[in-house]
Amino acid sequence: MNKPVILTVDDDPEVLSAIARDLRQQYAKQFRIIRADSGQAAMDVVQQLTLRNDTVALFLVDQRMPQMMGVEFLEQATQIFPEAKRVLLTAYADTDAAIRAINVASLDYYLLKPWDPPEEKLYPVLDDLVNDWYAHFHPEFQGIRVVGDRWSADSHRIKDFLARNQIPYRWLDIEQNANAQKLLDSAKVETPCLPLVLFADGEHQSKPTNLQIAEKIGLQTQATNPFYDLIIIGGGPSGLAAAVYGASEGLRTVMIESEAPGGQAGTSSRIENYLGFPVGLSGGDLARRAVTQAKRFGVEILTPQEATSIRMENDYRIVTLREGSELTGHAVILALGVAWRRLRVPGIERFTGAGVYYGAAQTEAIACEGEEVFVVGGANSAGQAAMYFSRFASKVTMLVRGESLTKSMSQYLIDQIDETDNIEVWNHSSVIEAQGDDRLESLVIKNSKTDEAQTFPAKSLFIFIGAVPRTDWLDGLVERDEKGFILTGSEIRSKGWMLKREPHLLETNVPGIFAVGDVRHGSVKRVASGVGEGSICVQFVHRYLSNL
Ligand SMILES: Cc1cc2nc3c(=O)[nH]c(=O)nc-3n(C[C@H](O)[C@H](O)[C@H](O)COP(=O)(O)OP(=O)(O)OC[C@H]3O[C@@H](n4cnc5c(N)ncnc54)[C@H](O)[C@@H]3O)c2cc1C
Repeated sequence: MNKPVILTVDDDPEVLSAIARDLRQQYAKQFRIIRADSGQAAMDVVQQLTLRNDTVALFLVDQRMPQMMGVEFLEQATQIFPEAKRVLLTAYADTDAAIRAINVASLDYYLLKPWDPPEEKLYPVLDDLVNDWYAHFHPEFQGIRVVGDRWSADSHRIKDFLARNQIPYRWLDIEQNANAQKLLDSAKVETPCLPLVLFADGEHQSKPTNLQIAEKIGLQTQATNPFYDLIIIGGGPSGLAAAVYGASEGLRTVMIESEAPGGQAGTSSRIENYLGFPVGLSGGDLARRAVTQAKRFGVEILTPQEATSIRMENDYRIVTLREGSELTGHAVILALGVAWRRLRVPGIERFTGAGVYYGAAQTEAIACEGEEVFVVGGANSAGQAAMYFSRFASKVTMLVRGESLTKSMSQYLIDQIDETDNIEVWNHSSVIEAQGDDRLESLVIKNSKTDEAQTFPAKSLFIFIGAVPRTDWLDGLVERDEKGFILTGSEIRSKGWMLKREPHLLETNVPGIFAVGDVRHGSVKRVASGVGEGSICVQFVHRYLSNL
């Protein structure tokens, strides 16, 4: 944490350096002593300190300064740092002004110049004030701050990106948090430029892309090697497992992830069936551990970077990223997983990010504290989300198309939902329209049994209605089934396999390109199976490489 600040202001250079010297001598260990030679210069310092998330413990300010008097400065500065102690330095002739300032600027003390010897006339007073300040001081959160409007899709994107990449941040809602407006004023940013992201070093970015944020906070976004033995595309459980096994067995390995390592599993609030974790673990924890493990073996993880094409040159497989750069390797593992299926009913598209969310339970749950939320879906992901929301929301309504949860959800989750008072399950229910102005305000829900449609007020809707592969970009190169899942192993013998040898298990129709996890045709859509496939695939990569 940065040291709290003592800011001293005086337009007389000699007095300023004398007071700064005395302050340093007594307080430099605990405080940063900053000086300014005018009220305006001091206000600039105050704005900078706000942007850096620093705290001021004490203002020690000369009263008689041209342009801005000490009291005037204190009035303005203490609106930004209301907890700071305020001391005015006055000449004898100004004592009346100082006494008036006790009320106007809530002055804590006024000191007469000169203050020699400081041991008698300065330190006892200031010691008392800073001790008092410390007693009520709650250290500010020092990391990234995001200022924005809760109902903006960009705010949601940035929060989701930071949360899923496990980067601590503080959210300041412009409508709810008084400090949010002060930060905008300090950064001289207007509301249309929101969201604003403020970094610990005082820099800020308005409406940044995820890549800009990643570069600023030091995530690796570019490859460092001209060549890799193994390029893994996708950083969910199957990609991470492949990365750990690949690098631990000596392959130069790079993994490309477009959103955040952890994939779908990373969005799960509690995975209860993964071997070795009897009380379950969150997807975030699983992802963090796997990333640490992969990095320990030397895997390069590029995030957020999206692969957009693959081409072949002899034995080389060249992967192009969305921003244009290329990575060259011998083998590629496609661990692309699946993405949420979109709900295609009127209004949903318009309010996505502004009350309508896909997955995202963990990012938005706290914002829903005390509110009612709707969850669409009847499978385990919807059940986990409902359980998670029940800790924050006043009520969770699950909208399930079928006649019950039994066909689509694990029994342990059904039992948990039954036992949770603030979750209601509405069977036979589908959303047929989302309504609102600039954010979701109500839902039209139809009961398929009665054929009746009713409108309910709604602020937040979370959709978990299955998933589809995102493999269109592999058109013309990698064989897929009619739904877009990738064919592998024996499935591709009749699909233009040209080599004499049999395709390896998990190998696609392109020699040296493999597919694992949820994106693979016929895969079991579970964390453990993805991890298993990612791990064993590396054996087949070795076999492929040994014959090059
Ligand atoms: C909310 C939820 C709860 C779940 N709970 C459980 C559970 O309790 N137990 C269980 O066993 N399973 C659970 N699952 C299922 C499990 O998470 C998945 O089976 C597993 O994550 C699949 O892993 P994967 O690596 O194959 O794919 P994914 O996890 O989908 O990861 C694929 C990754 O590839 C990235 N990607 C895609 N295309 C590109 C590209 N072109 N360039 C770069 N990166 C790309 C994506 O951003 C993503 O991060 C749950 C799923 C969800 C959504």
